[in-house]
Amino acid sequence: MKRTIALAGNPNTGKTTLFNALTGSNQRVGNWPGVTVEKKEGHLKDNKEMALTDLPGIYSLSPYTLEEIVARQYLLTEAPDAIINIIDGTNLERNLYLTTQLAELGIPMVLAVNMADIIEKNQEVLNTGQLSREIGCPVVEISALKGRGLDELVKLAAEAASSGKRPRILRCFSPSLENTLERIEALLPASLPEEKRRFHAIKLFENDEKVLQSLALSPKDLESVREWAATTEKEMEDDAESIITLARYEYISSIIDKCYEKRNPAKVNISDSIDRIVTNRILALPIFAAVMFIVYFVSVTTVGTIVTDWTNDELFGTIIPPAIGLFLESIGTAPWLQGLILDGIVAGVGAVLGFVPQMFILFAFLAFLEGCGYMARIAFIMDRIFRRFGLSGKSFIPILIGTGCSVPGIMASRTIENDKDRRMTIITTSFMPCGAKLPVIALIAGALFNNEWWVAPSAYFVGIAAILFSGIVLKKSSMFKGDPAPFVIELPPYHLPGIGSILSSMWERGFSFIKKAGSVVFLSVIAIWFLQGFGFTEEGFGMVEDVEVSILAGIGRSFGWIFRPLGFGEWKSAVAAVTGLIAKENVVATFGILFGFGEVSEAGEEIWPQLQAYYTPAAAYSYLVFNLLCAPCVAAIGAMKREMNNARWTWFAIGYQTIFAYVVSFCVYEVGRIISGEAFSLMTLLAFVFIAALLYLLFMPAKTASVKSDAGAKARA
Ligand code: GDP
Ligand code: MG
Repeated sequence: MKRTIALAGNPNTGKTTLFNALTGSNQRVGNWPGVTVEKKEGHLKDNKEMALTDLPGIYSLSPYTLEEIVARQYLLTEAPDAIINIIDGTNLERNLYLTTQLAELGIPMVLAVNMADIIEKNQEVLNTGQLSREIGCPVVEISALKGRGLDELVKLAAEAASSGKRPRILRCFSPSLENTLERIEALLPASLPEEKRRFHAIKLFENDEKVLQSLALSPKDLESVREWAATTEKEMEDDAESIITLARYEYISSIIDKCYEKRNPAKVNISDSIDRIVTNRILALPIFAAVMFIVYFVSVTTVGTIVTDWTNDELFGTIIPPAIGLFLESIGTAPWLQGLILDGIVAGVGAVLGFVPQMFILFAFLAFLEGCGYMARIAFIMDRIFRRFGLSGKSFIPILIGTGCSVPGIMASRTIENDKDRRMTIITTSFMPCGAKLPVIALIAGALFNNEWWVAPSAYFVGIAAILFSGIVLKKSSMFKGDPAPFVIELPPYHLPGIGSILSSMWERGFSFIKKAGSVVFLSVIAIWFLQGFGFTEEGFGMVEDVEVSILAGIGRSFGWIFRPLGFGEWKSAVAAVTGLIAKENVVATFGILFGFGEVSEAGEEIWPQLQAYYTPAAAYSYLVFNLLCAPCVAAIGAMKREMNNARWTWFAIGYQTIFAYVVSFCVYEVGRIISGEAFSLMTLLAFVFIAALLYLLFMPAKTASVKSDAGAKARA
């Protein structure tokens, strides 16, 4: 009789290697997750009656990612005669998570612990007999690569498929949880066979919509289930899905304690020890905050400033401009062209380039944090927080990438399968202070706050807060409502990244800014210089001495008033903010031209008093926040448009970002005014109304009830 065996396991555990070894076929093997998306079929080399199906790699049986849907659908509906669950023996904890779920399906199963060669090399011992008793199915240690243990595996799998012997049903969770599950099991339709009842009970407890629909419970039963689940959720202070996840991990760690041993216990795992602190429930966030604080403080405020001061004051202050000036003089350049070159291009582009050293230092830090494995932990920590609000930590990866530049950040959102979550991530990614916003932050921190310690790092936290706030609030609207996608991230062992890889990552990111300074910023600067240098006077159109009568001043004044409530209504700041839409570096470049960074001898710090005359601290911080949160540059908007593939959503994103930036900056300005001892006004009152409204949006309960009754309605239909 022909029988089918399904090969299931996490990505990168050696499924395809095993499939090829067993079937003699030659499928692509890759050392990265996600190589197999479709299922592949073949039959055993020496037994044509045994068909083997290579399923996509999955971490769990929740129906969220494409891979999970394919694999789960196959296992539930096609009911193979047996499953070979292949796991990576060097990573039992993560791999057994899927194993505990597969064992519940009521399908005969063999557990193949792969990578035996590495287990041996690491001087680890796995007690397969004990593991077999704990999981309730046969276990065999193999090395798919070296061809070890494969005969035994084939024998066990064929036996399982023909005998139909299913894994023992394990009631391995805490008594109170088991009790709830048993009660749910009792409600299941009598037609559901014994061995499938536990799986369905757990899925009902988790409120899994697909299973709900397939079961068609009566509304009354459904209500009981929800009620029991709610009671347990309250008791355990967690949501149903997390309760089950935790229960599984608790069980898994008890198995590992019993079955797995290091012969060389002196070799403690350093990564685990670090993680115990770094991902600790209480310490994780303060540590993350401290790390990012140090990164911004060092790269913008301390070391960065020393370098930037030199480039701004010396290089683009007393070295380059006089040299160029002398040169232009010597070849007899027309005065206007000298103006364009010195007061326009050198001042504008130079203002941006002056901040490049800070950018490089920031990028070196980021490359280090990514390379050593810390950023993966951040995504993991953030998932724990996000999940409470119905968000997935998956959204955090694009956001972390967006710290360099929003464009690749927005593109990275492709990995998010859920449309609503993806859209939300795209909308919020550009709140992060990307590299191009760094000059604005550094300029304001330096010129207007005398490099006070908190200013530059605060930009990062304002960005994160804006993302969290938007995530939580948007998730409550019907446009974004839905369950968070589960998020599994491998936490690679920590290691010191090589200097070479840090330098190349730093260079790759940093060089793109230098290129931008030479192209987009360069052209913008020329346009700005002309607009500020020409205007209409009594003698007609021509060059003007006073920028206040220039075309640019006219344009700026026409919309500058919009920003008056935010504290920066005068035209120069307004123009600079708007030029930021072309490239965020333009904000500083525009300042460079309008405040004359290029004026040969008195460059650099000497323009700071000039700027200070324009801005109160409240206005300056409001300006920083506005530039941080408002619509990103055209390149990022283009990326948003491409990724959402929808003009209306793109406009929604731009509108949301800009209005949000406006409201927040307004509140910041008013509160800042009060803190610095200025008088209350009607505007202050309005700001407090806004703050109250924002807080209300944040804390108002989500209408989750309607989601659940939707599911109920579908189940009944
Ligand atoms: P899949 O994603 O589960 O299909 O995994 P692959 O078959 O593509 O294998 C992932 C990686 O693990 C490849 O680099 C394999 O060469 C390697 N690999 C697979 N089995 C073993 C094994 O038994 N021992 C060792 N050392 N490496 C293995
Ligand atoms: Mg594969």
